[in-house]
Amino acid sequence: MRVILVGPPGSGKGTQAKLLSQRFGLAHISTGDVLRESVRLRTPAGLLAEPYLLAGTLVPDDVVNELVADLFRREECPQGFVLDGYPRTLAQAAWFDQVLRQQQLDITGVLLFLLEDEVIVRRLSGRWICPNRTCGATYHTYNRPPRVPGICDLCGTPLIQREDDREETIRHRLEVYHQTTAGLIDYYRAQGLVRDVSAEGTIEQVYDRVLQVLGKTRQPRS
Ligand code: AMP
Repeated sequence: MRVILVGPPGSGKGTQAKLLSQRFGLAHISTGDVLRESVRLRTPAGLLAEPYLLAGTLVPDDVVNELVADLFRREECPQGFVLDGYPRTLAQAAWFDQVLRQQQLDITGVLLFLLEDEVIVRRLSGRWICPNRTCGATYHTYNRPPRVPGICDLCGTPLIQREDDREETIRHRLEVYHQTTAGLIDYYRAQGLVRDVSAEGTIEQVYDRVLQVLGKTRQPRS
């Protein structure tokens, strides 16, 4: 199975990608994670990408395309995958088509996660994380507040917000999302690949919808 997840930031793509990759043994490719790791390691691509990540705007297509092509050029090129956060623009989709063609792979489907902007702002701006690398606990102002505001329940470290989870940055990321994905979605719709999925509700509810549009069940049939 080779699926692409498209959806606004905060629509739960990452969580659903993880569930799908575990259930079906797929490679989970998140360009956001790859880029954040490149920034942390101070690689050339990471240094280039850092200001864009901080501002919540898209990293230039050629930087992201190269990172993805690199993964598919390897000997252990993923045969089954769930892509989370890529392609994000029409130019990336066209490039990725070429990469797949070279590997003689095709796309099973593109899942489009639908969620209102205001729900997203509420979801993301409430997110807090523990910066202690051996802990990394996550909290939410509304859904999972820490016992003492601003302090990690598990290790006592002061909590921080991811730079791009600040409300202003989220609103900007949403604007960027709407502007850049319209063409991308039309492109995949024209190929009959898009499946709409409501991203409202709990992780389990969304996961059930995801499996349904993919025509799959939770457990392998015996
Ligand atoms: P994400 O974790 O998917 O929300 O991505 C976090 C940030 O990484 C985005 O705000 C962009 O700055 C950058 N990024 C991730 N994927 C892409 C992509 N496909 N194209 C351009 N920038 C990206």
